[in-house]
Amino acid sequence: MADKAAWRGELRERMTGRILFDEPAEGHTSLGVGGTIDALCFPQSEDELAGVVAFLGVRRVPFLAVGNWTNLIVLSGGYRGALISTTDLRSLTVRDEADGGVRLEAQAGAPLADLVNLSLCEAFTGMEFCAGIPGSVGGAVRMNAGAYGGEIKDVCRSVRLIDPQGATRSVRRADLVFSYRNLDLPAESIIIGAAFSLRRGEGDAIARRIQEIIALRREKHPLEFRNAGSIFKNPREVPAGRLIEAAGLKGMRIGDAQVSEKHCNFIVNRGRATAEELLGLIEIVQKRVYEQTGHALEREVKIIGE
Ligand SMILES: Cc1cc2nc3c(=O)[nH]c(=O)nc-3n(C[C@H](O)[C@H](O)[C@H](O)COP(=O)(O)OP(=O)(O)OC[C@H]3O[C@@H](n4cnc5c(N)ncnc54)[C@H](O)[C@@H]3O)c2cc1C
Repeated sequence: MADKAAWRGELRERMTGRILFDEPAEGHTSLGVGGTIDALCFPQSEDELAGVVAFLGVRRVPFLAVGNWTNLIVLSGGYRGALISTTDLRSLTVRDEADGGVRLEAQAGAPLADLVNLSLCEAFTGMEFCAGIPGSVGGAVRMNAGAYGGEIKDVCRSVRLIDPQGATRSVRRADLVFSYRNLDLPAESIIIGAAFSLRRGEGDAIARRIQEIIALRREKHPLEFRNAGSIFKNPREVPAGRLIEAAGLKGMRIGDAQVSEKHCNFIVNRGRATAEELLGLIEIVQKRVYEQTGHALEREVKIIGE
């Protein structure tokens, strides 16, 4: 990696958007953990983002995109390199389609909540399943986020990407390889936007479904503590939470990291948990569940840093 003072100085000169140096990740991750990030930058336009990516690539500075940090653990040693936040790229555009459908184009930083709210106001159906998922469009597409019978892959029509050289291209749905909580992307590619296919629906039915999902989330999820949603992917046959409970791990703690008493697939931060405590608990859960049930739980939450 190039000399840190030099690349950070040049990055600052190149950007009109905000850039934070040695920024603690704990103020950003939904779990409230993580050490300092060498540079956290907020491009103000897609062109600026492309320029940042190209610059970091040439300087061989590691980089990653972040959205709303709701599926992310940053380790206590922090991140060496640059995290590129899409937060300031959040426009939404709606177009009517010839077949009566609606095409919703969203920039990567748009919160899913904005897409759900727009759907509610305009009576578009298709995005209801996203109600209550706190991610951004970029994070949701990358993770193929899903809940209550829907997944991003069901509504996503195309994705716009920036490659590691800073070039932009659009990828059609037929060429996107989605799987459970994943979209295959070439390394270091950044999603800058996505188009979704929605339909015009019945306003009351859409509102009812959204309310129903929000109520279920409030009832079942430990939203009173900091969390990152489901920590593990659900095996095909049985939900991860049920396996964790069956292994007797409900409520288990390391420091302030705890297997939620309300929903065992959530590991919550009850106060001052560190990334390493969360990770320690994740590993114990994987080990014990495997020993007792034969299921190898795979992590859903992403871990970065050192
Ligand atoms: C209370 C709660 C409930 C949740 N419920 C659900 C649920 O029901 N279903 C579900 O699927 N998830 C759920 N989640 C997890 C999380 O909200 C989703 O995975 C969400 O899609 C992550 O989006 P994000 O913007 O926060 O991504 P981040 O956490 O910022 O990033 C996640 C990953 O995506 C990558 N990424 C982010 N933006 C981009 C981009 N523009 N280009 C390329 N890669 C990118 C990051 O590098 C990282 O690897 C929940 C989380 C919480 C806290």
